[in-house]
Amino acid sequence: MPTSRLNIQATSGKQYIYSFTEGSAEGDATMKNLLGGKGANLAEMANIGLPVPPGFTLSTEVCTYYYDHSQTYPEGLFEQDIPDALEKIETALGKKFGDPEDPLLVSVRSGARASMPGMMDTILNLGLNDTTVEGLAHRSGNPRFAWDCYRRFVQMYGDVVMDLKPQDSKHSDPFESILDEHKKKKGCSLDTQLDTDDLKAIVSAFKAAILERTGQEFPEDPHVQLQGAIGAVFGSWNNERAIVYRKLNHIPGYWGTACNVQAMVFGNMGDRSGTGVAFTRDAATGENIFYGEYLMNAQGEDVVAGTRTPLKIRHLQEEKPDIYQQLDCIRTRLEQHYRDMMDIEFTIENDRLFMLQCRVGKRTGLAAIRIAYDMCKEGLIDEKEALMRIEPDQLNQLLRPVFDQKEKDRAISEGRLLATGLNAGPGAATGSICFSARQAQEVKERGQQAILVRIETSPEDIEGMSLAEGILTERGGMTSHAALVARQMGKVCVAGCGELDIDYQKGEMRIEGTDIVLKEGDSISLDGTTGEVIQGEIKTRNPEVIEVLADKTLKPEDAPTWQIFDQVMQWADHYRTLKVRTNADQPEQAELAVTFGAEGIGLCRTEHMFFGGQRIDAMREMILADDIGDRQKALEKLLPYQRDDFYGLFKAMGSRPVTIRLLDPPLHEFLPQEDAEIEALAKKIGMAFHDVKTRIDNLHEFNPMLGLRGCRLGILHPEIPAMQVRAIIEAACIIKKEGHDIIPEIMVPLVSTVRELELTSEIIHKVARRVMAEQEIGVTYLVGTMIEVPRAALTSGDIAKAADFFSYGTNDLTQMGLGMSRDDSGQFLPVYQNYDIFPHNPFESLDQEGIGRLIKLSAKEGRSVKSDLKLGICGEHGGDPATIEFCHTTGINYVSCSPFRIPIARLAAARAAIG
Ligand code: ADP
Ligand code: MG
Ligand code: MG
Repeated sequence: MPTSRLNIQATSGKQYIYSFTEGSAEGDATMKNLLGGKGANLAEMANIGLPVPPGFTLSTEVCTYYYDHSQTYPEGLFEQDIPDALEKIETALGKKFGDPEDPLLVSVRSGARASMPGMMDTILNLGLNDTTVEGLAHRSGNPRFAWDCYRRFVQMYGDVVMDLKPQDSKHSDPFESILDEHKKKKGCSLDTQLDTDDLKAIVSAFKAAILERTGQEFPEDPHVQLQGAIGAVFGSWNNERAIVYRKLNHIPGYWGTACNVQAMVFGNMGDRSGTGVAFTRDAATGENIFYGEYLMNAQGEDVVAGTRTPLKIRHLQEEKPDIYQQLDCIRTRLEQHYRDMMDIEFTIENDRLFMLQCRVGKRTGLAAIRIAYDMCKEGLIDEKEALMRIEPDQLNQLLRPVFDQKEKDRAISEGRLLATGLNAGPGAATGSICFSARQAQEVKERGQQAILVRIETSPEDIEGMSLAEGILTERGGMTSHAALVARQMGKVCVAGCGELDIDYQKGEMRIEGTDIVLKEGDSISLDGTTGEVIQGEIKTRNPEVIEVLADKTLKPEDAPTWQIFDQVMQWADHYRTLKVRTNADQPEQAELAVTFGAEGIGLCRTEHMFFGGQRIDAMREMILADDIGDRQKALEKLLPYQRDDFYGLFKAMGSRPVTIRLLDPPLHEFLPQEDAEIEALAKKIGMAFHDVKTRIDNLHEFNPMLGLRGCRLGILHPEIPAMQVRAIIEAACIIKKEGHDIIPEIMVPLVSTVRELELTSEIIHKVARRVMAEQEIGVTYLVGTMIEVPRAALTSGDIAKAADFFSYGTNDLTQMGLGMSRDDSGQFLPVYQNYDIFPHNPFESLDQEGIGRLIKLSAKEGRSVKSDLKLGICGEHGGDPATIEFCHTTGINYVSCSPFRIPIARLAAARAAIG
């Protein structure tokens, strides 16, 4: 990078100021920490010879000095350094700051390391006063232009530096009110229709308002103006909205902002001038076209202010072909130089083009993947860099149904946004409100779409959930039952929407704080990506990738986005070392997961297989059985269902590994709770109502999460795992006889001591041997355990002796490791987040310091006993990019996640490997 070190010294000996002018600069693009993003890129553009008006940047160290020294500046800054730097601009342009004949005007702009759009302030046309405005008018031969600049300057200075703002949200901006008054008097609507005399009157009115409201005169001395503006920029680092923005975006307060002082160029000089903003490619679709807007005879933010409608950049091609040509060259130049899509600001002054800003452009997920792919094909970046350019979560936009954006915007502007909950399952869904599975079924039978609305969901709702397009709950967090199941099914889900007040009896829900009442059957729409709940129907559509992979309604050759997606996934598979499996318990789910790239099943939750039709009755009979004989009988009814389920699953997975977890949840979860349902069940299985009720009461636990569940169930009732193992091995034998090889991995849940695993393993081996003898064929199977109780993690050396593999059940491990119920954490975690107690919700992204440490320790101990011990993680964290990176570095063999997150996990694993 060509840099001419001009060696400006502050009195303190430290360089606080970095100058730039077309062709050379003291800074460059790598110096963002010191110069802020804006300053570093202005320097870079100047260095590569782009037309940048000269200026200088006060570094972020001035800002940190300012806050460390009770809002004062390094010695000599205003006496020596700033005048020296100003003089360089004056020399470059042949104008003087404050010169009554031909004044140099500057802009004073904030700019932090990370872009904080609209959070901090900019002042334009600084240096104007009652004298210099006449000089500018005379020199430019355009008094109207000079007074337009002055009007803008007094307004911005009054607002930003002298703090003349609306009193509160009900009051309008005092300057805008004055402006409107004058426009009304004149009978016009646009600023451009005001003439010189109008502008003069407005400037006086502005100044009078400042004096009246602040008790201070507007400063005439340009040097006083400059000092005031610089102070305001550094001050704006700690204004309320900047602090809030930083918090939301994890930007530390100690970074500070830089301040850029730059010679003005004027887009408001008349019809040969203008200003605009552009992206070097389409930021919404990623298409390689120049995309932007501009306005003639305008300055600064006019383009985005919305008072005049800006023109598309292609009009510039017709209106000013020369300028367009230059701009288009700069576009290519910038892309070649930065090797990325850029967002630029430019101004045209009397047919001369100037660049005022550039930065890497923000983009949608669709654009991110397309731009990365195209730039790789264009040779600008390599495959690794292309992968690093796509945030894994951005792939969601290619995988989930989406709303028609215009329709959604309209719905919101019509006031139909009802409430906002947790964005638990991304995507868009619309349909009729159903408060029960039965209702959902009826709606589906009528050929309509259903949204299942529940206070919270339980395993009994699974059928209704699978029928519904989307699920909405009043209670529960990101890993509540509803959220978990919804994600595995690929359903849209908004969870924990506390503003709802659901009344099953009345078949209606109210929205707290309003008098809106929605009834069963009313239309509702859910945006699971944002958590928004919207009244009425909004059109949705499936994205291309889903039409190809899941719906199979589109051929790959007709799907350009799918082709890009597919290529990027192939690159990811090439670089990653971590395997990606899926959580699935239905053959169709498994098949879908395989088309998304699953390399096995990491978690089959067998309890999900007990809910359909007849099975639940047999299951309930088993639970309610008085003695082992009755229990056996009920289990025998369940056996064929289980065997068929496993057969289907194995078949769908081909030769890929399948990890099956033995029954995990507490038994009462399978039983009805309401009297009417208990009555019906009693009748069905020929028991007295009273007996069923007593049995259910007996099964009640104070803390079911820590009660009779997991391996404890099998140790008390060995016939349950025995039936499950029989079903697994029988299914494997059938598959083997059909000529395929499958290695079932039988997983024991909730183990905390090696003895529990040994006892359960004995049952498993005994049954397996018996089945193989009956079937006269041998199959290979593995027996491993979940590591989800902290004690198991701490004694992994012992446990490994009895296990072929470990799978970290991070949901329970987090819950037990933190002593924090995931279903109740919704009450305090949001507050915790405000206090930065955890950097992220620990149920969404692994608490690497604490729970991660348990995993690391366990992996190390386990592998010290068995060096080839296979390690995986299942649970919601398996699809979280940060957790995936952790797994990669910890030497875990695979992650397992819901089918729709598999592409995201593949990309995250590749990025972790590339590093
Ligand atoms: P932001 O960070 O909000 O983008 P900027 O500092 O870029 O704020 O300035 C706001 C507006 O003022 C932009 O449209 C920019 O192009 C314009 N602007 C800033 N400096 C100058 C200048 N020296 N000459 C002309 N316009 C300028
Ligand atoms: Mg800008
Ligand atoms: Mg568990």
